[in-house]
Amino acid sequence: MDYDIAIIGLGPAGSTLARLLNSSFKIIALDKKHQTGNEGFHKPCGGLLANDAQKAFVRQKLNLPADILTEPQIFSVKTIDLQTKLIRNYQRSYVSFDRHKFDLWLKSLIPNNVNVLHNTLCKEIRRVIDGYQVTYTDEYDVEHKITAKYVVGADGANSVVRRMRYPHHSIRQYVAIQQWFAEKHQRPFYSCIFDNQSTNCYAWSISKDGYFIFGGAFPKKTANQNFELLQQKLTKQGFIFGEPLKTEKCLVIYPNRFRDFYTGNENIFLIGEAAGFISASSLEGISYALDSAEILSKVLNSGIAKPNKHYYQKTIPLRLKLYSKIIKAKILTTPLWRKLIMKSKIKHVKTI
Ligand SMILES: Cc1cc2nc3c(=O)[nH]c(=O)nc-3n(C[C@H](O)[C@H](O)[C@H](O)COP(=O)(O)OP(=O)(O)OC[C@H]3O[C@@H](n4cnc5c(N)ncnc54)[C@H](O)[C@@H]3O)c2cc1C
Repeated sequence: MDYDIAIIGLGPAGSTLARLLNSSFKIIALDKKHQTGNEGFHKPCGGLLANDAQKAFVRQKLNLPADILTEPQIFSVKTIDLQTKLIRNYQRSYVSFDRHKFDLWLKSLIPNNVNVLHNTLCKEIRRVIDGYQVTYTDEYDVEHKITAKYVVGADGANSVVRRMRYPHHSIRQYVAIQQWFAEKHQRPFYSCIFDNQSTNCYAWSISKDGYFIFGGAFPKKTANQNFELLQQKLTKQGFIFGEPLKTEKCLVIYPNRFRDFYTGNENIFLIGEAAGFISASSLEGISYALDSAEILSKVLNSGIAKPNKHYYQKTIPLRLKLYSKIIKAKILTTPLWRKLIMKSKIKHVKTI
C-alpha cells in the first residue's frame, strides 16, 4: 500500500480528520478546492456556525480568526410560516462567517506530514488485495492511481465514495439554491421560511457583508420553479430581492430514515455529510462534520481492531440526535403542529 489512509474531500469533516490523526500514519488527502484564493470550487453555504459546532471548536481548542468573520453578527431568526402567516423571532447565537475562507483556513491547519493534493478530483475507488485503489485527476486533468489501506469518504452530499462503494445506501437528496443580492432592507436580518403548501421547501435568508442571501432546499424536479415562486410570495411579505449578483446550486442530503446514516464498512469510513450527517430540520451540518471526524480520529488513533465496528458504535449518540432532527422536521412540516408551536410562547422573543 502507498498510504495507510486516503481522505477524499477536505471540507470541515475531512480537514478536521486530517488534522487530528496521529502523525505516525502515512496519509494522502484529495480535495477539489484550490489551496488559496477565490478561484475554483466553493461550497454553497449560509455560513452560520451553530452552538454545537462552537462546542466542537472548544473541545478541539480552536479559535476562529477574525478575518473569516462577516458582519453584522445577528442574534435572532425571524421564522415565517407562509400558510398561517405567523411570524416569530427566536434567539440564536450563530457566528456568521465566510464559508470559503473558513474551509481554506481549516485546510491550512492540516499538518505537513499529510500529503494534501489541492484542485484534484477523485474519480474511482476500487477494491484491491489488502486495501483500495484510488483514481484521481490532478489540476492538469492527468490521471493518477494510489493505493491505501483505509479510505475515508469526506466528500459531502454527492459523495463519490458513497455512490461507488455503497450504491444500495442511497439517500434522499434535494437541490439547494442560493442567490446573492445587494442588501436593500432597512435592517439586516436572518429568516427561516416554511412553505409546504405550494413550494414544499425549507428556505432561509441571511444578511451578510452588504449582501442579502436567499436560499432554499427543494425536491429536485421542481427546484427552479419553486425557488422563483417562493421569491414572488416573499416579495409580498416585504422581502427585497432585485437583480441576483450570484446564483449557487448544489445537492444537499435530506435524511428521513435512521438507516440513511451510514458509516461504511470493510475499511471504508464515511464522515460528515457523506455519511448522511446533517440536520433534517435546519440543514445545519458543520457540527456533525466536526464531531464525526473527531470520533473517527479517536478510533483510528487507538489502533483498535475492527475500526469500522467501533466507529459505528461511537457514532450511535450522534445518529440518535440526528434522528431526533428527522422527527422534529416531520413535526415542523405539519402545519397544525407548527402553528401550535409558533403560537405558544416557547422561547420566542418579541421585538420592539
Ligand atoms: C445551501 C446550503 C447552506 C448551508 N448552510 C449551512 C450553515 O449555515 N451552517 C451549517 O452548519 N451547515 C450548513 N449547510 C450544511 C453544511 O454545508 C454541510 O453539512 C457541511 O459542509 C458538511 O461538511 P463535509 O465536510 O461533510 O462536506 P463538504 O463541506 O461538502 O466538503 C466536502 C469537500 O469534498 C471535496 N470533494 C467533493 N467531491 C470530491 C471529489 N470527487 N474529489 C475530491 N474532492 C471532492 C469538495 O472540495 C468539498 O469541499 C448548508 C448546506 C447547503 C447546501
